[in-house]
Amino acid sequence: MSDPSLPLDVPADPFGVRNQPPEFAPRDLWSGDAALREAVAREGGEGFDATLSAYGRLVGDALYAASWDAHRDRPRLRTHDRFGHRIDRVEFHPAYHQVMSEAIAHGMVGLSWAPHAWKTPEWTGPLTGGHVARAALCFLHHQVEPGSGCSLTMTHAAVPALRRVPSLREWVEKAVSGAYDPRDVPIAEKSGVTLGMGMTERQGGSDVRSNATVAAPLAGEGEYALTGHKWFFSAPMCDGFLVLAQAPGGLTCLLMPRRLPDGEKNAFRLMRLKDKLGDWSNASSEVEFDGARAYRIGEEGRGVAVIIEMVMLTRLDCMLGSAAQMRMALIQAMHHARHRHAFGRVLIDQPLMRNVLADLAIESEAATAFAMRIAGAVDRAARDRHESAFARAATAIGKYWICKRAPAFVNEAQECLGGAGYVEDSILPRLYRQAPLNSIWEGSGNIQCLDTLRALQREPQAVAALRAELEVARGLNSAFDTALPAVLVRLDEALAADAERAQSGARRLVERLALALQASLLLRAQSPLADAFCRSRLGGQHGVGYGTLTDNIDFATCLARVGGE
Ligand SMILES: Cc1cc2nc3c(=O)[nH]c(=O)nc-3n(C[C@H](O)[C@H](O)[C@H](O)COP(=O)(O)OP(=O)(O)OC[C@H]3O[C@@H](n4cnc5c(N)ncnc54)[C@H](O)[C@@H]3O)c2cc1C
Repeated sequence: MSDPSLPLDVPADPFGVRNQPPEFAPRDLWSGDAALREAVAREGGEGFDATLSAYGRLVGDALYAASWDAHRDRPRLRTHDRFGHRIDRVEFHPAYHQVMSEAIAHGMVGLSWAPHAWKTPEWTGPLTGGHVARAALCFLHHQVEPGSGCSLTMTHAAVPALRRVPSLREWVEKAVSGAYDPRDVPIAEKSGVTLGMGMTERQGGSDVRSNATVAAPLAGEGEYALTGHKWFFSAPMCDGFLVLAQAPGGLTCLLMPRRLPDGEKNAFRLMRLKDKLGDWSNASSEVEFDGARAYRIGEEGRGVAVIIEMVMLTRLDCMLGSAAQMRMALIQAMHHARHRHAFGRVLIDQPLMRNVLADLAIESEAATAFAMRIAGAVDRAARDRHESAFARAATAIGKYWICKRAPAFVNEAQECLGGAGYVEDSILPRLYRQAPLNSIWEGSGNIQCLDTLRALQREPQAVAALRAELEVARGLNSAFDTALPAVLVRLDEALAADAERAQSGARRLVERLALALQASLLLRAQSPLADAFCRSRLGGQHGVGYGTLTDNIDFATCLARVGGE
């Protein structure tokens, strides 16, 4: 380890290692994160503190160590066995299975749906807050191994759709069981199952109405044969997949199992794995269905309505994932800056580096609070109309804004490490490759902005919920109070505008709403960074890039908030 107390102008052993930071891990990613812990308590997830605490230690230690192999040793497609039979399996490094197993055991799939299994033993309060606690698990997980998050997210999000069909009860029970069972066997033999989803085809992903895969009814009640393809089909080793296909009554959602009840492999072929920019530990494939058996979920023609319930949850995980990547990038940058000297001072004492890090800290805090607020709304949506309407609009706003902010954020944090941040030994290149993905899948940026517009134009309750969420912070901060009227005027203008104008201005509207919502949240939460957020993001005390805060913002408070040593 380097000795930072040594003056750097003293000639030293030319082959010695000096002025390098100590190892980053192990560290406790739960207890070290005040913003996350406060958000969980605020949103009602404190009955699960013991699970979160255990997972925070695990991801910051054993899973952090495992994540390198899971990511670097990429999954491999095995289309055939040695005799020529089709098997269509994907092989992973054992570290991937270790990560999956721990995540599922700690409730990353099941906690929201079976909260009693993961509650703190001493907790005697109400067992609400399951979505909040699972969101926190997701946040912890994505800091370290986001690739595996894909199938975890899809399995979690598929549960409400599966619950619609009583005959699929075994799928639900095994999805939320807390057991990871990667064997390729029929579900009757499995202790736990995972689920994927297939919507995107070559001719269209955002516009799923263009789906051409056909679902032909079979003799059995609710059974169909699928013929066609999916152009993106992630986690293809899952046990089942929610697939959109054209049935006689229109676009329909179906469950396609990997294996049929008699043990036969279902009639689909994995054509190849995508060679992706990042997300390496996750396999994403192209697939063809050749008469694959599937079971209808919901009515024919209602496929989008069924799968949108799943997509709302995966979109929440996208924003949690991006907020988590920001957090990991930030604490890596802080760690480096605390231990690295340049020009006679430790980096964290250099005024301009303090500005960069403080700015990143503000952004990270706001992203975490916003994503967790939406998780809280999802929890309360079933019994509170305001929360339900808020979740509807804010999911699209948060998915757009938080995911869009992540790539530039990660790049800025990477630069804080200098050259080391561009080298694979640090986690930063991995985070950097991963960062753009959340804004592309599950509905790309424009689609989120158009969806926000649609929600606001069609659902007056969503407009009222957003307004109420903003108005409630009036009077708490002068920069917020000054900015709010213009945001509300922009909202009114968007609602009154014709379709062309409203769509063309949708990013600008969503951006203003996102910033105002984040400000309102931080103010009400009495975050120590709330004033800095308002002044910089709403009050003009900020440039275009990071590190452009004006010097009347209290950098020391921002840096202290990040924690760590
Ligand atoms: C690594 C990875 C894994 C994936 N895994 C899966 C999976 O498991 N299952 C699955 O179903 N899909 C998956 N996807 C697909 C992903 O969801 C789609 O790529 C995404 O939804 C965009 O669809 P598209 O690629 O067809 O682009 P298009 O729909 O062609 O869109 C291209 C661009 O046009 C924009 N656009 C579209 N319509 C409009 C409009 N009306 N106005 C303005 N702009 C518009 C979009 O925002 C986007 O920026 C995956 C993608 C990736 C990268």
